[in-house]
Amino acid sequence: MDSYDVIVAGAGPVGLFLACELALAGCSVLILEKAEHPRSALKRVPFGIRGLSTPTVEALYRRGLLDQLAAPALRAPFGQPDAQGRRQAGHFAGIPFYLDDIDTARWTRRLPSSSATSMLCELEALETVLAARAASLGVDIRRGVGVTGLRQTADGVTVLSDGPSFLSQWLVGCDGGRSAVRKAGGFEFAGTEPEFTGYSAEVELADGDQLKPGRNLTPTGLYFQSQPGFLVMQEFDGGAHHGAGPVTREHLQAVLRRISNTGATIRAVHAASTWTDRARQATSYRAGRVLLAGDAAHIHAPLGGQGLNLGIGDAMNLGWKLAATIHGRAAPGLLDSYPDERHPVGAQVLDWSRAQVALMRPDPHARALGAVVRELIATRDGATHIAARVWGIDTGYDLGGGHPLTGHSVPNFELEDGTRIGELMRDGRGLLLDFDADPALETLAGAYDGRLRYVSGRPKEGLGVGAALIRPDGMVAWAGGRRADPAQAGRAAERWFG
Ligand SMILES: Cc1cc2nc3c(=O)[nH]c(=O)nc-3n(C[C@H](O)[C@H](O)[C@H](O)COP(=O)(O)OP(=O)(O)OC[C@H]3O[C@@H](n4cnc5c(N)ncnc54)[C@H](O)[C@@H]3O)c2cc1C
Repeated sequence: MDSYDVIVAGAGPVGLFLACELALAGCSVLILEKAEHPRSALKRVPFGIRGLSTPTVEALYRRGLLDQLAAPALRAPFGQPDAQGRRQAGHFAGIPFYLDDIDTARWTRRLPSSSATSMLCELEALETVLAARAASLGVDIRRGVGVTGLRQTADGVTVLSDGPSFLSQWLVGCDGGRSAVRKAGGFEFAGTEPEFTGYSAEVELADGDQLKPGRNLTPTGLYFQSQPGFLVMQEFDGGAHHGAGPVTREHLQAVLRRISNTGATIRAVHAASTWTDRARQATSYRAGRVLLAGDAAHIHAPLGGQGLNLGIGDAMNLGWKLAATIHGRAAPGLLDSYPDERHPVGAQVLDWSRAQVALMRPDPHARALGAVVRELIATRDGATHIAARVWGIDTGYDLGGGHPLTGHSVPNFELEDGTRIGELMRDGRGLLLDFDADPALETLAGAYDGRLRYVSGRPKEGLGVGAALIRPDGMVAWAGGRRADPAQAGRAAERWFG
């Protein structure tokens, strides 16, 4: 049996992104994917369109992948102006917020040269780009092999599948919401049960003009026709129809009629899937040599589009830490900082999703509360706050230290020679930024065998930063003002780079 540093279960976006991170850092990686073929109608326009938040856009940009996702697979998120000339920027529980209400000047950790705050991307295109990159980095991807179980010892993991068994030092479950790895690894998956069944369906309507355009909250749920025949619906039935066998034409039509209170007729169903607002999260993301990331670690309603973003954030956080552990260069506790940092971010997203479900309930109390939220979201403060949460502008970790940038994504500083910091992160190494040309910092970076890239130069806009240590995931591990203390940088480097 061949043995790998890491086996990743699942070639969804999170498993692929993680495998790329690990391979970039020099690990041998095998991906086992249950499905024979990566393609699916539900991964293409319109159902396969995913909203990418700021940390995801930054992650793709920093690894040089944004350019590979060309239009129309990747596009700007904001549609045409409405009749009032306003562009909708997103929604909270179906309540829209508008671009012209958002005060981006308040996001002081970002620079105008930073990548976009939000994009739309086709899931299939994203997976195709990631799979090609994984293959080019030497990742072995085996499709049609589903993980069925595991046995772990102090030294490694035997991964059981519906075919042969495989050996690795570490196993990461990126095998989606029904994760076999999570179940076999004995992880607790705690949370709340669903209130509704959601439907995404491509249908042929006999009389589509009976339906109203846009997102419609009704006394029994919600329906949305994004383009003729492409329906998204939510019915508050306690999630009873999710996974209850194939979705028939008769059933979809009955749901549509109940929710829209029309006599709309569905002639044919071309594709349909269901989902719910079940919100659960693994209480720990690590059990010995087995880890979880993406939907395997957390599930929630897709309202406001957060799941993929959360998963890519997990992968960006985990990849370099697991690689350093495998190479024997990790500082004590580095790997456990993965669940410590990512679990609270996941818990926040689950609550964000639950708050939206509570507002969408078809009852008078939720309607009344919805009216209050509608008023608040129409204010500058309200829209700016909601946009920051939806786009993950302030995503960060409590890493201690006194500088406001510490624990947050590094601004995309542009040096005088035109180089942008994000472009220096393609090889996945950490950066020691020195805007004051301090020889002590150059010596410090040199002690890390090339794992820490020393970058010296003058930024066009420095935001009061004299020097900063950047982790491979783009988070500021330490920052100092002008004439920063190199001893502080040294302590931070030891903590994160061993
Ligand atoms: C209608 C809808 C709209 C959404 N919109 C958004 C959005 O706008 N923005 C956003 O961020 N998120 C959105 N999401 C959520 C997002 O799609 C998921 O969170 C994301 O796909 C999770 O990625 P993943 O790689 O963790 O899991 P998956 O995408 O589920 O991939 C898991 C992979 O593992 C494989 N697998 C399963 N079992 C096994 C096994 N036993 N062995 C090996 N392989 C296995 C599967 O075949 C699959 O390829 C939406 C979801 C839905 C349903």
